[in-house]
Amino acid sequence: MNLYRPEEECGIFGIFNHPEAANLTYLGLYALQHRGQEACGIVSSDGSRLRAHRSMGLVADVFGNPEIFKALPGKAAIGHVRYSTTGDSVQKNVQPIMVDYARGSIAVAHNGNLVNAQLVKAELEARGSIFQTTMDTEIIVHLLALSRAASLEDRISEALGQLKGAFSLLFLTETRMVAARDPQGFRPLCLGKLGESYVVASESCALDLIEAEYVREVEPGEVVVIDRNGINSYFPLEKVAPAPCIFEFVYFARPDSHIFGKNVYLVRKEMGRQLAREHKIDADIVIPVPDSGVPAAIGYAEESGIPFELGLIRNHYIGRTFIEPQQSIRHFGVKIKLNPVKEVFAGKRVVVVDDSIVRGTTSRKIVKMVRNAGAKEVHVRISSPPTSFPCYYGIDTPTRKELISSSHTIDEINKYITADSLGYLSEEGLMKAVGGNDKSFCKACFTGGYPIDFPMLDPNSQLGLFEEEIREHD
Ligand code: SF4
Repeated sequence: MNLYRPEEECGIFGIFNHPEAANLTYLGLYALQHRGQEACGIVSSDGSRLRAHRSMGLVADVFGNPEIFKALPGKAAIGHVRYSTTGDSVQKNVQPIMVDYARGSIAVAHNGNLVNAQLVKAELEARGSIFQTTMDTEIIVHLLALSRAASLEDRISEALGQLKGAFSLLFLTETRMVAARDPQGFRPLCLGKLGESYVVASESCALDLIEAEYVREVEPGEVVVIDRNGINSYFPLEKVAPAPCIFEFVYFARPDSHIFGKNVYLVRKEMGRQLAREHKIDADIVIPVPDSGVPAAIGYAEESGIPFELGLIRNHYIGRTFIEPQQSIRHFGVKIKLNPVKEVFAGKRVVVVDDSIVRGTTSRKIVKMVRNAGAKEVHVRISSPPTSFPCYYGIDTPTRKELISSSHTIDEINKYITADSLGYLSEEGLMKAVGGNDKSFCKACFTGGYPIDFPMLDPNSQLGLFEEEIREHD
């Protein structure tokens, strides 16, 4: 049985030199909750000892008792929100990971997925390492502990040099906080300041919440060391072409965040404008699939001159863990999350804007819902190209076989979702909207052009399966 599964999308936050470090980390994680809802944790340092509180659940539930913060003293803290759809969503896999080793204690919070995890783990086990979790993040801790380098900087450089894949990382020792980003810069990571304190977060929306000032991104391949002497930065890893994840713009990041040098809301709106230029249609109203389709729908409406309406209302109180009550009433399906405003749809030709189609089942239900609400025509517009390939760098996508675009043409998908027409934003249109060129982003889930090779692995492992899928594509 393969114990290594991909780590799914996560969020990280850290603050150094603030008397309310754990409290502010809690707020930061709150702002990053959209990046992971299954588990969370905070590790704090009082200068001589690390302490942790971690558990399964939402940030507000795990840290709901103010007494918890008394047990997290100190002026430095890092935190993590985790999202995993796999069986490995268990207490032992909650981050930050914290360990004691020969040189003291260290905690690590990781966003991303290492593609050579299994290979490195096998090597480490052959040298006697014993793993306690199924997270690839634990590999980093073992590499650090085994390093003979004299300084923390060198130990981190040595460890990171052995990793392949996506990592935005935060380390906390008794006296230092270290942020690091992989050379491709797959996942976002930014640096902020709050008075004399330094803050690091996956997205700038976490800085906004605690009223920290946005300073800059942690650059791809950069390691930033923060201690009582201030901030130091170095680039220990081999320089490669950056490949930040375009899907962060399409769907994952919060629209109020500033990532990869741009505001997410404005980029999404531009995707909608571009979509309207590429796929015009005569219609009466434009409606978004909330929430992530909203900015693109506004852009589509502005560009096309078709009025924008909020025709689908989302129930915001459905958690990821929602379990439908019993088999016999399962048919409520999508209606539990979305409900149409019938008065908006009656007799109208409707453009429905969404950010992506994964399996096609949700789009099909939405089209049916809009028709049942009285729409005369339903035209679906998607603000990204067809998602045909899975992600191996930390975003939870289904396998290739489950992605409808991998095996169906746009016409076939249109028939399946029962829309009157279907239009996807082109790759060129997407690049125009993000202001990038063909090579400035990872867009492998649209193109299959993966920026990092996959090492040869045991064919029975999950990563071996990835390879098979990639070869299939080649
Ligand atoms: S494969 Fe897609 S989701 Fe994954 S990092 Fe690349 S662009 Fe992002």
